[in-house]
Amino acid sequence: MPAKDTSPREKRRQLILDDFMNSVSEALVIYDHDLNFIEVNEVARKQIGLPRSKILGMNMRDLIPGVEKTKRYKKYMEVIRSGTAFEEEVQDHPFAPGRYILIRAFKIEDGLGITTTDITSSKLALATEQQLKKDLEFLKDSATALIEMSNEDELFQYTADTLREICGGCSTIVNIRDRSNKNILVRAHSLSKEQFRIARSHLGNRILGMSFPTYKNEKLLKSGKLVHLKDGLYDISSGKIPKAVCSSIEKLTGIKALYTLGFTREEVLFGNVLIFETDENRSLNSSLIKAFIRQVSIAIERIRTERALHESETRYNIAFATSPDAVNVNRLSDGMYVDINEGFTKITGYTREEIIGYTSLEKDIWVRPEDRQFLAKTLLNKGFVRNMETEFRMKNGDILVGLMSAHLYKHDGVDHIISITRDITSRKRAEEELRISEERYRVVARQTGQIVYDYDIESGRISWVGAIEEVLGYTQEEFAGVNIDEWEKMVHPDDVKAAVDNLQKAIDEKSPYDMEYRLQHKDGSYVDIEEHGLCIPDRGGERYRMLGSLADITQRNKYQESLKLAWEKARESDRLKTAFLANISHEIRTPMNAILGFSDLLMNPNISTANRADYIDMINKSSHNLLNIINDIIDFSMIETGQMQLYTGEFMPLNMMKELHATFRQQLELLGKEHLDLKLDIPAADDKLILVSDEERIRQVMTNLIGNAIKYTDSGEIRIGYRIGPQSQNRSKIEFFVADTGIGIPPENRELIFERFRQLDDSNTRRYGGNGLGLSISTEIASLLGGEISLESEVGKGSVFYFTIQDIPVSAEDTGKTEEESEKVGYPWEDKRVLVAEDVISNYHLIESMLDCTGISIDWARNGEEVLKLYHEGTKYDLILMDIRMPVLNGYEATAKLRKSDSKIPIIALSANAMQSEIDMSIEKGCNDHISKPISQQVLLETMDKYL
Ligand code: ADP
Repeated sequence: MPAKDTSPREKRRQLILDDFMNSVSEALVIYDHDLNFIEVNEVARKQIGLPRSKILGMNMRDLIPGVEKTKRYKKYMEVIRSGTAFEEEVQDHPFAPGRYILIRAFKIEDGLGITTTDITSSKLALATEQQLKKDLEFLKDSATALIEMSNEDELFQYTADTLREICGGCSTIVNIRDRSNKNILVRAHSLSKEQFRIARSHLGNRILGMSFPTYKNEKLLKSGKLVHLKDGLYDISSGKIPKAVCSSIEKLTGIKALYTLGFTREEVLFGNVLIFETDENRSLNSSLIKAFIRQVSIAIERIRTERALHESETRYNIAFATSPDAVNVNRLSDGMYVDINEGFTKITGYTREEIIGYTSLEKDIWVRPEDRQFLAKTLLNKGFVRNMETEFRMKNGDILVGLMSAHLYKHDGVDHIISITRDITSRKRAEEELRISEERYRVVARQTGQIVYDYDIESGRISWVGAIEEVLGYTQEEFAGVNIDEWEKMVHPDDVKAAVDNLQKAIDEKSPYDMEYRLQHKDGSYVDIEEHGLCIPDRGGERYRMLGSLADITQRNKYQESLKLAWEKARESDRLKTAFLANISHEIRTPMNAILGFSDLLMNPNISTANRADYIDMINKSSHNLLNIINDIIDFSMIETGQMQLYTGEFMPLNMMKELHATFRQQLELLGKEHLDLKLDIPAADDKLILVSDEERIRQVMTNLIGNAIKYTDSGEIRIGYRIGPQSQNRSKIEFFVADTGIGIPPENRELIFERFRQLDDSNTRRYGGNGLGLSISTEIASLLGGEISLESEVGKGSVFYFTIQDIPVSAEDTGKTEEESEKVGYPWEDKRVLVAEDVISNYHLIESMLDCTGISIDWARNGEEVLKLYHEGTKYDLILMDIRMPVLNGYEATAKLRKSDSKIPIIALSANAMQSEIDMSIEKGCNDHISKPISQQVLLETMDKYL
C-alpha cells in the first residue's frame, strides 16, 4: 500500500479521484502492476461485498476462485505488459452469478484499470428480439403451409408435428370434436416410438380415432391460454382410465407435465392439442404455441367452410339438375333465360336451345304479362317472392297453373331472377273437381234436409255440411267448430249414453251404424234425429274416419204417432161399428116387427074398431121410428163420404123453435110423457132475428137434442130456446140450448158420447133405444155450420146441451113474414086440381087420403106416359105430384118432356131417396120442389101450399 501523502494538494487530488470513481455508474477497480487493489469505487465494493479498507489490502487472485483466477491473471498481466486494452463478456461472473457482465481492462500509469458493467438486460432484450424474429419467421412458414392444406388429416398431422418442433421435441396429440359435438377423437399425434408403444399397450391398438367424452372445462379451453393440467393424463381421460394406469403411463413415458390448448374461433371450440413435457427445466414458448394454434384454428375453419360450400354447391347442382320442378334463371331487366333445368324442359315442352337467350315475353310464356311485372316489382322491393300462383303457356299452347317462388341475385353485377315453379295444374283441377263435388253433395244434403258429416276420430274434429240451419237452427259458420265433445253436449241427456255407446261400438267393430236420438236445436228444443254412418279406414288404414248423415225425423215420428193413434181409433171404431150393427139390426127389427105384427092383426076382419085404431097407431109410431133410423144412417153415410151439403137461406129461429116445440109437445103425448113440461125459452129481445144458415140442418140438430132430452128424462121439465149475442157487421153469435132434468151424464163420458156409435149403455139389454149416431151426426152438422155442441151435466139432476154458432150472418131485412102468416090453419083447395103420378096404388091412396082434408080434385097417372097423356088431353092441372121411379117413363123423363111445352106448371117430385143428390137431380130436371118418402102429411100440405 503506498504511503499516504497528506499535503493539501495531495488531499485535493485524492478527493477529486474519489468523486470521479464514485460518479462512474460501473464498477471501477484499479490494480497496481502486481494486481493488488489500489482503488475501488462504491459500486465495485458492493459487488465484492467487503469493506473498502479490507479490499485495498488484497490481490485480485485473493478474490477470484478456481481456474478462472489464473485465466484472468494471465489476461490482465498481458494488458499491463502490452498496453493493449481488451473487453470481455462474462456470464456467471463470481460477483454476479446468472448475469451478463462486460469487463473492460486497460492499462494505466503503473497498473491496470478494470470496469465491469452489468449488461444482462440489454443482452436479454437482444435474445428476445432474436427469438421473436425466429418465431415470426416460423409463423410465416407455417401460415404458408397451412393455407395450402385442404385435407383435415394432413392438417392435424402437420399440427402435431410442428407443435412438437416448437416445444423442443415434446410429444403432442391433436384432438378434434366429431360432428355431433358429443365426442372428442384423437386425430393426429407425434409420440415417440417408445411412447406410442407404451400407450398402445395400455390403451389398445387404436390410438388414432380414440374417443374421449366431451370437455370438462370448455371455458378454460376457449380462453385460448396454455393450460397446465394438474392431474395429467387422468385429467383428460375424465376418469375413464384409472388414475393408476395414467400415472403408470406417465412414469413409463417420462411425462413430467401435461399442457393443453383449444382450437377456437369466435367462441366455438373445435378441439384441442395436448403437449407432453418430459424435461422439467425447459420452459415452453407459450406465445408461439398460442399463435400457431390460432393459425391452425383458422385453417380448420377455412377447410370446413370450403368443404361445406362445396357440399352445398354440389347439393344445389344436384337439386337444380334433378328437380322435377321447373328451375330457371332469367335476367331481371328483360326476362331473358340464362339457365334452365331439365324439369323446365319437361314441364314446358321447350328444349334448352329453344329457350336460352330468349326472353319470356318473346316466347309468350306468361298468360298474364302483368304477373311478370308484379314479380319484378316485388323482387326489387323485397328480394324474394313466395308461392305466387300464376299461369304459364307451354310450348303446345296448353295452360299450366304454376306455384312459383323466386329470388333476386346478382350475377356479374347484373340482377337475375332464380325461380322455381311447381306444376299444380292437376292439383288445381282436382281441387276444383273436389270443390264441385263437395258443392254437389252439399246441395243434395241440403235439398234432402240432411246434415252430412266427416268425423276424424283421432282429433275429434268434425266437418259438417248440408241442412244445418234447417234442422238445428245454426248457420254453417256457427256450427263449424262443433267437435265430438260439443256434439255430445247437444245430445239429450237421456239419449247420450246409448248414442255414445253406439258410436264407440261402430269404431271398435269398424262397422256401419244406425241410431236415433234427440239433438238440441239452437232455440233449446230437441229435434228427433236419425243417424246413419260408416266407419272407414283413412291414410292407408293407419287411422279411421266416420262418414254419415243426420236427418230430422221429428215430423215423421209425429206422423207415425198419429198413424198409431189413427190405427187404434180405427180398431176402436171397428169394434163400435160391430156393436152399432148389432144395435141397428135390433133398432130396425123392433119397429119392423111391430109394423108387420100389427099389420097381420089388422087383416083380421073381426077386430074391434078400438083395437084397430090402436094397431094403426102402433104401426104409425113404429114406422116413424124406422124412418128416424134410416134418416140417421143416410146422414151418417153422407158425413162419412163428405157429401153432406148445406143449403143456406134466411129463416127465423123463433119460428123454427116454435115448430119444434109444437111437434115435440105432440110427441110427448105419443110417448106417454105428457107429465114432462116442455118449455120454450126465448127472450123477447131475440124473437125478431133472421138468420142466414141452413135451417133444416139446425132443426135436425135441435130435433136430436130435444129427442135425447125426452128420451133420458122421466120427470121434471125440458127447456128449449136460444140466446143471441151482440151483433156486429151483420154477424152475431147464437146459442141454442136444450136443458133437461134427466139422468145426467157422468164427467168421464162427456166427450165419449159425441163419438160415433157411442152409447153409454151399449149392452144388449138397453133401457133406452137409439143407435148412438145422433150426437155424432149433430156434432158434424154443427161443425159444418161453423158451430159446436157443448154440454153441462150433473148425474141424476140433468143436462144442458148448447149448440153455439159464433159468427153467424144475420139478415138486416125483415122478410115481412109474420107468425100468423106462417102458421097456416087449413088448406081450402076445393077449386084446385092435382095430378098424382104414382105407380104403387097404396102410395097413391095414402096421398089421396092425406089430401082429403083440402077438398082438392085428384087425377091419377100410373107412369110418366100417362102423365103426358092426361096433361095433353087438355085437363087443366094446378100442380103435379111426380113420383120419380115409375115404369114406362120415369118421373125425370116425364118432367123434362112436360117442361118443353109448359114451363110454368108446378111439379113436386116424390122420391123414396132422401139423398141430396136425388133432390138436386129432380130440381135440375125441371121440378120445382121435392118431397122425400115416406111422406108426412104436414110436409106435403106445406109444400103444395107454396105453389097453389
Ligand atoms: P142415442 O141414439 O143412443 O141416443 P146419441 O148419439 O144421441 O145416441 O147419444 C149418445 C149417448 O149419449 C146416449 O146413448 C146417452 O147415453 C147419452 N145421452 C145423450 N143425450 C143425453 C141426455 N140428454 N141425458 C143423458 N144422457 C144422454
